[in-house]
Amino acid sequence: MLYDHVFLIGVDGAGNFFREADTPNLDYIRAHSSYAETFDAQTAFPTISAECWGAMLLGVTPEMHGLTNGYVSDETHKRTGDVKYPSVFKLAREKYPQAKLVSYSDWNPINIGIVEDDLGVDKKTGSIVDITKYIVDSIESDEAPKLMFVQYDSVDGAGHHFGYGTQQYYHSISQIDAHIGIIWNTLRCKGLLSSTLLIITADHGGTPQGGHGGDTPAERTIYCGVFGDEIKGETIGKMDVWDIPPVIGKALNLASSPEWVGKIPNNIF
Ligand SMILES: [Zn+2]
Repeated sequence: MLYDHVFLIGVDGAGNFFREADTPNLDYIRAHSSYAETFDAQTAFPTISAECWGAMLLGVTPEMHGLTNGYVSDETHKRTGDVKYPSVFKLAREKYPQAKLVSYSDWNPINIGIVEDDLGVDKKTGSIVDITKYIVDSIESDEAPKLMFVQYDSVDGAGHHFGYGTQQYYHSISQIDAHIGIIWNTLRCKGLLSSTLLIITADHGGTPQGGHGGDTPAERTIYCGVFGDEIKGETIGKMDVWDIPPVIGKALNLASSPEWVGKIPNNIF
């Protein structure tokens, strides 16, 4: 099964805490979709944003890509040209020269130091409300995006402030759940659900003390849900964060990068 669109929604710092959070929209989407999910995917180490988003978007380990929060935040490190480890956007651009590609990131360094700057990707940053408005506008436009990456940062903020797994932290996941509901409903209204693969995941989790970067299950274990037409299983097999580019590649029929260290997990296609 190939898809016309892939939407990758990343919730910074959400780990696998989707399991305990109150997520009525996600519950509704599950009830009205075919899907597969895992609460036991593993992110990269160290469990830091740039290292993990880099692994998710480039399909390689942090040892390979070498990206850090400081590096990707530096405007002089805009990613352009022939990089050794291309993002999945680059492969999408090679396959679809004219297609709309979108990266809306609450944490702008992803759009500086991870997603290449010379691919014609529509990049925007803003609050979670801004981001969702950009997404809705993009879906409702004449041409829905071929590949859309979205990063919401507020859950990680709540984790740092209140502790991961606290009541206030779960509340912030429920808030993002409402935004996911808006996105899904916009896809439904545009008649795009059957041609879209929707992936919901996180870059890392965190500890009750409000930190991340370490190697504990609370930091390394992440949720990944994949929603689309004719998804075969309900539980995704063993999965690592760098498996996401191969999944997107298969869904959009992209060439695969020889550098990718991941594979397509079982029970998605
Ligand atoms: Zn993060």
